[in-house]
Amino acid sequence: MPKVITLPGDGIGPEVTAAAVEVLREVAPDVTIEERPIGGLAYEAHGEPFPQVTQDALKEADAVLLGTVGGAHDSPWNKLERRLRPESGLLALRKALGCYANLRPVRVQPGLEHLSPLKPQLARGVDILIVRELLGGVYFDGDRKIDGDTAYNTMRYTTAEVERVAKVAFWAAEQRRGRVTSVDKANVLEVSELWRRDVQALRDREYRSIHLNHEYVDSVAMLIVADPSRYDVIVTENLFGDILSDLAAVIPGSLGLMPSASLGDGAGLFEPIHGSAPDIAGKGIANPAAAIMSVGMLLRHGLKRSDAANHVDRAVALALREHPTRDLGGTADTRTFTRAVLESLGTPA
Ligand code: ATP
Ligand code: MG
Repeated sequence: MPKVITLPGDGIGPEVTAAAVEVLREVAPDVTIEERPIGGLAYEAHGEPFPQVTQDALKEADAVLLGTVGGAHDSPWNKLERRLRPESGLLALRKALGCYANLRPVRVQPGLEHLSPLKPQLARGVDILIVRELLGGVYFDGDRKIDGDTAYNTMRYTTAEVERVAKVAFWAAEQRRGRVTSVDKANVLEVSELWRRDVQALRDREYRSIHLNHEYVDSVAMLIVADPSRYDVIVTENLFGDILSDLAAVIPGSLGLMPSASLGDGAGLFEPIHGSAPDIAGKGIANPAAAIMSVGMLLRHGLKRSDAANHVDRAVALALREHPTRDLGGTADTRTFTRAVLESLGTPA
């Protein structure tokens, strides 16, 4: 029996995670679900933001469902020494799971085009999956220095690092529209030359049914806004992916609609991209859609159950159209929206 560990965390985390767990129980009743503490509340209870009880539980997990971590800007947690702050629990968690591929879907749901800052005709039909390399490149390379008036960081990748993240992208594309765009800066950077060569070689060796093309990151930054429907899966290195995924995240128009997955060799980590929203915590009005869509990603990528994942995605889309939450200009509270999703799950496709 698969085991899912939930880490509800702080702020609206417990509220949206409770909603997501209800949905998970409904579509995957055989899954064992156990809850553990993380973040500020874990510090309150155990004296550290990523306590041993949580670390131990992860060893037996098939997937991890995370809520949100952190307090308000004036929270006393922010005065703790760095390693005790809620956010360092999150970093320790990501490191412990060794997640090297960060997946962010960018989708404009039919009927919700009006929320997008793009013109309606551009917003229609946007359905992109960004796969960002998460453990390598310029953010992590040890070859770095600042010395007087000179400083440098190093963008370094090995073939093995390129291939493992590219495989995730090809695998995802097989379940989608079969197209991968690999993003680099191969006209200027040697590291991009290797990236491009290795992604292409992997495609030619193992994924011949996938249509692969290569584009420069500057051109993608323009086209993702000017013509987003041209993309299916985008795969790119850490720094480029950081910038492109934040850029693309504004396209759907609400943070409350953005799930994410981080995959590695062990259990995957699934979480909404929004923060702990302390301004609305405890009021029962948070939009749980991103957390519930993260359950969709958990089913698809963590437990390899795409039918159940599709079922959840369809139910969320229906609920969003009929019972939009306040952040989307509607009136539904967390409870009403969650009930709408559960009811839609009973609706045949
Ligand atoms: P971070 O915690 O990542 O530093 P932040 O504090 O800037 O980011 P959030 O906590 O995501 O951002 O909140 C930003 C705004 O969006 C807040 O006004 C918050 O109430 C709102 N918000 C975020 N998530 C949701 C949600 N799921 N439902 C409704 N409103 C939300
Ligand atoms: Mg926040």
